[in-house]
Amino acid sequence: VLLIEFKHVFKKYANQVVAVNDFNIKIQQGEFVYVIGPSGAGKSTFIKMMYREEKPTSGQIKVNDYQLEEIKNSKVPFLRRELGVVFQDFKLLPKLTIFENVAYALQVIEKQPAAIKARVEHVLGLVKLASKAPAFPNELSGGEQQRVAIARAIANEPKILIADEPTGNLDPETAAGIMEILERINQQGTTVVMATHNSHLVNEYRHRVIEIEGGRVIRDQDEGRFFQDE
Ligand code: ADP
Ligand code: ADP
Repeated sequence: VLLIEFKHVFKKYANQVVAVNDFNIKIQQGEFVYVIGPSGAGKSTFIKMMYREEKPTSGQIKVNDYQLEEIKNSKVPFLRRELGVVFQDFKLLPKLTIFENVAYALQVIEKQPAAIKARVEHVLGLVKLASKAPAFPNELSGGEQQRVAIARAIANEPKILIADEPTGNLDPETAAGIMEILERINQQGTTVVMATHNSHLVNEYRHRVIEIEGGRVIRDQDEGRFFQDE
């Protein structure tokens, strides 16, 4: 099943930088895809267009069944509910507990309190943080905060989990723990798209690699390594 399709997608920012130059990419349900390339290559722009944080200048983008260049802004929240997004800096709400941070995502879709509680406890269990439910984000390590962010992202059972440098702020051991969780989520059927600079993870957990440089896709390879020639 085709979940994500970019057809002749260009993104030129107001400063005339062409961040994404003619992307033609298909991602099938269940895939795990790394997006790699140097800083400024266009990775974030590519990923942001998937959840409509940025709009393409031209071309067509389909995600789930949404044709993103056509949908009204009022439809964007519906699209976002079908995606989970994880960021390098976690983006937890500091004044809410861990439980509340995860529940918040579910309350938006009006579930019953008992169903919310069960689901929050379940996803916190998946990331092995059930005991931290009453804590606040600043009481957790970086790796733990990222695991909460992942729990929040999968709480609505999204078909696609998008991760932009999810291990960028973490030490190698902690990064590997995050990767194990993303692997497990992928094995349960969720499509994962992950932008990363982490060559060790890319080489150790082999998946499709989309390499970008100067706004162009320069490599799209199944089970690729971080450096093409190594
Ligand atoms: P990466 O994620 O690979 O580091 P980005 O997608 O963030 O790359 O950036 C690609 C290019 O677009 C860079 O030249 C960057 O400076 C530029 N860029 C990114 N965001 C904006 C913006 N909002 N306005 C103008 N230029 C931008
Ligand atoms: P079951 O689905 O039979 O309850 P699992 O242990 O496979 O058994 O999964 C439990 C629940 O966890 C699933 O119903 C699913 O909603 C949720 N879940 C697990 N992994 C993910 C994931 N990657 N994305 C979204 N939801 C997930």
